[in-house]
Amino acid sequence: MRFRGAILALLALASGCRGRSVPAASGPPAAETVETVVPAPFVPEFSVQAIPPEVEARMLGRSYPAQAAIPLSELRYLRLSYYDFEGEQQTGELVCNAAIAEDLRDIFSVLYEARYPICSIRLVDDFDGSDDASMAADNTSCFNYRTVPGQKKLSNHARGLAIDINPLENPYIDRSGRVRPPEGEAYADRSGDFPHKIDRTDLCYRLFREHGFNWGGAWRSMKDYQHFEKPL
Ligand SMILES: [Zn+2]
Repeated sequence: MRFRGAILALLALASGCRGRSVPAASGPPAAETVETVVPAPFVPEFSVQAIPPEVEARMLGRSYPAQAAIPLSELRYLRLSYYDFEGEQQTGELVCNAAIAEDLRDIFSVLYEARYPICSIRLVDDFDGSDDASMAADNTSCFNYRTVPGQKKLSNHARGLAIDINPLENPYIDRSGRVRPPEGEAYADRSGDFPHKIDRTDLCYRLFREHGFNWGGAWRSMKDYQHFEKPL
């Protein structure tokens, strides 16, 4: 029994397995030749493609309303691997403008190599297009055809040129001092140090700046610590 345990441990090591992996996308289950199933090794993914039909179907009427003034052909669908807050490898989904797709792929691959913790990367459509719900869930997202909160002006997220990272710990504080998401109130005070805080020493901040993005945490009248956007 000890011998079999050692074999399984070796298999786990060889597979590079670090806990939970995303299930294989397709294919029949492997034939059961051993009593204990060794999880498939995690294969990181950093892909950029046109919006697939099934993703378009999820977006329509949620992040992408019928009257959206940006054609879907200007947007890209990215699959990005990352380490979550438990240190587990995950692969998330993101929609952005084609103009920053390569930037995001490069940035997220470096964040992955550095094991930079990200709570989740899901399309805002999984939250029925609600930015408030996505932020409250601490979800990292980019494209959403919406206005700036509290204003009529379209947000840069509506062009897929802005991205919000770990928004709960890095909230948006408007001119009146209102904190969004309200669940992030405890993180509005940036004087102390706490996990997942974005500031000028943060790797995420440095990578986005290197790629020509502006940081909402540097704005004067309001602060948007989760927000990076590329002026184009
Ligand atoms: Zn934002």
